[in-house]
Amino acid sequence: MLKNIILMGPPGAGKGTLAKQLKHAFHLTHISTGDMFRENIKGGTPLGLLAKSFIDQGHLVPDEVTIEMLKERLAKDDCANGFLLDGFPRTIPQAEALENLSTEINRPIQVVVNLDCDNQELIRRISGRRVCKNCGAPYHVDTMKPKVDGVCDFCGGPLYQRADDNEEALKIRLDHYVHDTKPLLDFYAQRELLENFDSLQGSQELFNQVSQFLNK
Ligand SMILES: [Zn+2]
Repeated sequence: MLKNIILMGPPGAGKGTLAKQLKHAFHLTHISTGDMFRENIKGGTPLGLLAKSFIDQGHLVPDEVTIEMLKERLAKDDCANGFLLDGFPRTIPQAEALENLSTEINRPIQVVVNLDCDNQELIRRISGRRVCKNCGAPYHVDTMKPKVDGVCDFCGGPLYQRADDNEEALKIRLDHYVHDTKPLLDFYAQRELLENFDSLQGSQELFNQVSQFLNK
């Protein structure tokens, strides 16, 4: 089974849901760099303190620090059964460093699961999202309508559209995503690690398809 996984996909493609399903089904450790920073800083580790010194000065944490932290993280026992890396790498130098460190600790990346999505469809999906102002329940104008237009089924609160869910903002986000991600997808395709999945199928179908592939 393939169990050392990088998960990639544009905003709104269902990455969060898939990550949760895979994590539970295969007992993988879900690793996001944001959580990793918070844990290290909270725990006062040497790398956490170093990262904090950059953040406190208003700088980005340099790649070397992130990569060293990631190396420690992936070497931990809970990653022995496999890990799901989310939000990293974002650049080619990061991908190269990850390749080196994961080989070094003998836990090489085995597959890059990429959620492919037609931008037009993604925009349709996301711009139809509505959220209850009171309880946060999610709705969709086409696929998950409330019983009464604009009113939450659970609490009667008003439904609204998040400011960054509008079509213009989404187009910009997606263009950035495609532009930033393309080189990485090429990098992993060259290494025959890239596996594309159509994220426009239902989340259960997507999960089944990815599971089947990982189980090969
Ligand atoms: Zn509500």
